[in-house]
Amino acid sequence: MIHTTHILFGVFLIFASFEGYPSSIAYIPFIYAISSSALGALFPDIDHPNGYLSRGNWRLISLSVRKTTSHRGWTHSISGAVFFSVIAGAVIWYYNADLLYAVPFFIGYISHLMSDSLNPTGVNWLWPITRKKFRINLIKTGSKQESIFQSGISFGISGIIAYDVMFNAGMLLNAIRQMI
Ligand SMILES: [Zn+2]
Repeated sequence: MIHTTHILFGVFLIFASFEGYPSSIAYIPFIYAISSSALGALFPDIDHPNGYLSRGNWRLISLSVRKTTSHRGWTHSISGAVFFSVIAGAVIWYYNADLLYAVPFFIGYISHLMSDSLNPTGVNWLWPITRKKFRINLIKTGSKQESIFQSGISFGISGIIAYDVMFNAGMLLNAIRQMI
C-alpha cells in the first residue's frame, strides 16, 4: 500500500474511535490523535528503503531497523506495534506529555497492518510465534483497487463528519477548529 492509503486509514480509525467514544476528547486532543495516528500509520514501512519515513530525519532509524529485518518482517507484527508504541511512549514521557498520546500511535500502527493484510504479500501479525503471513489478497499496491479503497475510506471519513455535525453538534470539527 502507498503511504496516502495508510494515512487515510489511520485517520479514519481515529475519527471512528472518537465518534464512537466522544469522551476520548477529554483525554487526548483530537488533532494530536490524528497526527499521532498518521505517524503510527507510516511507521511500519521504516523497514523499506523507499518507505515514506525512511528518508530525511528518520533515515538513521530506518537503516538500523533494516539491519534486523527485511521488508514486512517483525516491524509488521503486533510485537512490532507494541515495541514502537512503547518507544513513542518513552519519548512522550520525556517531554512530560500524557502517556495516553501513545494510544493513537498504536491505533495508526495497527491500521497499517490491517491495510497491508489486504494485499497479496500479507502481514506477519504473530511474529515471533509464527512466521506465517496473513493476507486477504484483495488489493495490489498502486492498483485501481487501491484507489477505490482510498475513495471508500474518504467516503467513510466524510460520513463520520456528516454524522458528527447532524447528531453530535459538530464535536470533532469544533475540536479541530479550537486547535488551529
Ligand atoms: Zn507496510
